Amino acid sequence: MKPVYHMSTPLFHITTYGCQMNKNDSERIAGLLSSLGFSATEQEAEADLIIINTCSVRQSAEDRIFGAQEKYLEYKKQKPDMIVAVTGCMPGRDKARVFQKSLPATDLYFPTPDMVHLPKWIAELRPDLVNSEELSTDYLKLHPLRAPSVQAYVTIQTGCNKFCTYCVVPHARGLERNRPVADILEECRGLVAHGVVEITLLGQTVNSFKAIDPQTFSPANPFHDHFAALLWEVNKLDGLKRLHWTAAHPLSMTDEVIAALALPKQVNYLHLPVQSGSNEILKRMNRKYTREQYLEVIRKVKAARPGIALGTDIIVGFCGETEAQFQDTLSLYREVEFDISYNAQYSPRSGTLGVKLFTDDVSKEEKRARWDELQAVMEEISLRKNQAFVGQQVSVLVDKVQHNFASGNSFEMKLTRVPATESDLVGKIITVDVIRAKTWILDGRKHDDA
Ligand code: SF4
Repeated sequence: MKPVYHMSTPLFHITTYGCQMNKNDSERIAGLLSSLGFSATEQEAEADLIIINTCSVRQSAEDRIFGAQEKYLEYKKQKPDMIVAVTGCMPGRDKARVFQKSLPATDLYFPTPDMVHLPKWIAELRPDLVNSEELSTDYLKLHPLRAPSVQAYVTIQTGCNKFCTYCVVPHARGLERNRPVADILEECRGLVAHGVVEITLLGQTVNSFKAIDPQTFSPANPFHDHFAALLWEVNKLDGLKRLHWTAAHPLSMTDEVIAALALPKQVNYLHLPVQSGSNEILKRMNRKYTREQYLEVIRKVKAARPGIALGTDIIVGFCGETEAQFQDTLSLYREVEFDISYNAQYSPRSGTLGVKLFTDDVSKEEKRARWDELQAVMEEISLRKNQAFVGQQVSVLVDKVQHNFASGNSFEMKLTRVPATESDLVGKIITVDVIRAKTWILDGRKHDDA
């Protein structure tokens, strides 16, 4: 049945919390709503449909959703037929709908894959807005609506089978599910045809990707590991300049995936979460590798791609973590010499095994002190590594021209800026002579200006 629209264009507003995966899911919701005749609005209060795409990784992210309910109740006083929908990881993990009781302004509460039912649900609540059947049964087949950009994220996998004891993802997003290679490549081709030059492949453990249609890989593809084979295919796309992926799991860093790091369009950066440098803590976290195995992967990565920049994720203050075990994390950090680390203080998440099996016994103050110490080591190494770029050239994809500077990431994913005012630099890859380095930014000048 063709959608039937109400008199004026219905408006939606989406607020997204959390990771790139959530952002890409919001783009799918936007694509779905646009196909129903909705338009996006920046003004939340005037929207007919408000979508809040939630993150459950930290308690603070969930608290913000509870805290915003008052605001939505106020909007509804002015606009009583406004629909407020909460989706993402919070309803994903809240199978018993316990949290929903604390969301009084919320009309729709559904996990991410159920976005396919939105046309039916909106039609039930507001038949004046839309009258349409479901457009797809698989949300991963919905076309994301992206803001025009030269960079794009492509989800290749959702869910996770690893069950790290601190993590809500397998509970919120379910088990790992991989998209067909044919769909992924079609999406990538479409993006490149529309001017995208940098694609980031997304998955919870992106490198554990298993193709359900491996026959799609070209006969010339040299790789047998499905993720390495996918990288090879994407790398081949004419017009694409940069290929990036996140987040990897150390266990799935096979020799072929490591070899694929040398593909010409692969950015000179790898994000490989380690979480802890202590074998005892890694075991408690159910990370399924040891410090030694992680370091061996890093050794092979550095051999395959000398000079590669490295990033990681670390949790400090996990249940039972002693000072000595925290020092193991610091020593691993110094040994690898990461360029960047996303550091978190452990916070227990209900429903995870960590809460059932262990006691959150590292005090808040201790967690904070360890986090501060790790941040200081990170910043010291980061600055030192950035200073090595002074006098060198880096290649930068400009994504912004503002306040007399053009800025973007180098091939090593380091934020770099040059004095410039030409807005047509956005989307271009420029060569930059680095003249100064700070902890989080490289300053330089365009090579052509030299
Ligand atoms: S690998 Fe572990 S931390 Fe990453 S999403 Fe899966 S369960 Fe969570």
